[in-house]
Amino acid sequence: MQHESYEPVIGLEVHCQLMTTSKAFSPDSAAFGAGPNEHVDPVSLGHPGTLPVANKRMVEYAIRMGLATHCTIAPVSILARKHYFYPDLPKGYQISQYETPICSNGYLDILDPDDEASSPRRIRLNRIHMEEDAGKSLHDQDPLDTLLDYNRCGVPLIEIVSEPDIRTAREAYLYMQKIRQLVRYIGISDGNMEEGSLRCDANVSVRPKGTTSLGTKTEIKNMNSFRNVERAIIHEIRRQINVLKEGGEIVQETLLWDANAQKTRSMRSKELAHDYRYFPDPDLPIIRVSTEWLDDIKSSLPALPEARIEQYVADYKLPLYDAQVLTEEREVSDYFEATLSELLKKGDASDVEPAAKSVSNFIMTDVLRTINEKQAHVDSYGISPERLAALIALRMKGDISSSGAQELFDLMVDREEAPEVLAKEFNLLQVSDAGALTPIVDEILEANPKQLHAYLGGKEQLIGFFIGQVMRTFPGSPDPKMVRSILLERIGALKED
Ligand code: ADP
Ligand code: MG
Repeated sequence: MQHESYEPVIGLEVHCQLMTTSKAFSPDSAAFGAGPNEHVDPVSLGHPGTLPVANKRMVEYAIRMGLATHCTIAPVSILARKHYFYPDLPKGYQISQYETPICSNGYLDILDPDDEASSPRRIRLNRIHMEEDAGKSLHDQDPLDTLLDYNRCGVPLIEIVSEPDIRTAREAYLYMQKIRQLVRYIGISDGNMEEGSLRCDANVSVRPKGTTSLGTKTEIKNMNSFRNVERAIIHEIRRQINVLKEGGEIVQETLLWDANAQKTRSMRSKELAHDYRYFPDPDLPIIRVSTEWLDDIKSSLPALPEARIEQYVADYKLPLYDAQVLTEEREVSDYFEATLSELLKKGDASDVEPAAKSVSNFIMTDVLRTINEKQAHVDSYGISPERLAALIALRMKGDISSSGAQELFDLMVDREEAPEVLAKEFNLLQVSDAGALTPIVDEILEANPKQLHAYLGGKEQLIGFFIGQVMRTFPGSPDPKMVRSILLERIGALKED
């Protein structure tokens, strides 16, 4: 393999749109999906004489991400102007951060769920800073002109810059997935790559194995899905290795990923920082983060996936696999925890480990299948944590069989009655009452003398036949174990006669 003598080095710059109501420095709506130029105002259009005011929520969201990724939060940071000329940026500069990002020196751990032998890999974060988005140039709406939509102009972003710690395209993919999971957990973005709320620039270089200095990098833009990030990086690693093998040199440049052609093409040679003429924005005050504010934000953060996984495995004795599936989305994990706590309240399931495993089984099979099929949300697909807990309690008490529980679950998705009520209506309650079953058992034994004779003569597998007959004859769903034991008891009594 050509890869063998080279090691890829990858660093990602990820832009993430923040879900604030208004824009970063002006009061117009930051919502996605309006008609062209409906969400614009004089500030985001850069009219002379307008002044920006920083959105506090943007700062809070940036800090949330910094805390979730173990960053140091700067008590004092500065917003800077980054100058470049492009029609989608009417002010002629972008408000960003340069020398003092709000968050720095963090990390996140990535783990490959498909590779059981792998251990977590720590990817260090250089910084997270705040900036405003630019507008959108539309090149395909008019045969002659490029049209401009400024709705996105001024929408708040954070940029998360990794250290060049990523070594494979797969790791880059997992890193992006991790960022998506985190921003969704802490409620700062929907993390949707296809719609552009998460965007990634990949910096790629290769170096001879065993060396430590960095090779010349290229930067790839325009990858609008997680898979395309992976593909583009694979492609670029191959291209660079081929250039080097043929004695060529890597040119530092910016490349565009063309998803249709599945290859990159050159966009421009790279700007250097001094081309942007960064300087502190004189229109905006210094951002100060007080200890009190920081503590407030800290205490408002939910438990993050790693902490939840640890708790599920240590306290509930769930298999790691269950814990990973349950914590993938925060809503599912919250739903699991709410259901378990409802179930434990019921008293007859006070033992946490079997209760947790039952809830986990239900969520990993029936609940996830149903929300998948219905394209629904775990909070609104039809069964609340209270009702699911009531169903699981019935099952754990042995009042319904496992197939009965499945049937009841499907009924509950569409109907609002309590599971006990539905179980009765649809005859799903297991009859564990020996008194009611015995006459039926006797009846069946009497009605099938040939089979009984054969059974007594040693054909013991016929017990299944008798169980089936009783189950079919009895109204409702008797517990098969109970049927079996009554059958054995009655046959035993016949033998003695
Ligand atoms: P630039 O000055 O080109 O913007 P930075 O040092 O700011 O470069 O880094 C930008 C991103 O590129 C970071 O994510 C960093 O980890 C990554 N990076 C820097 N040098 C390399 C390299 N030689 N190979 C791969 N990635 C790199
Ligand atoms: Mg840079």
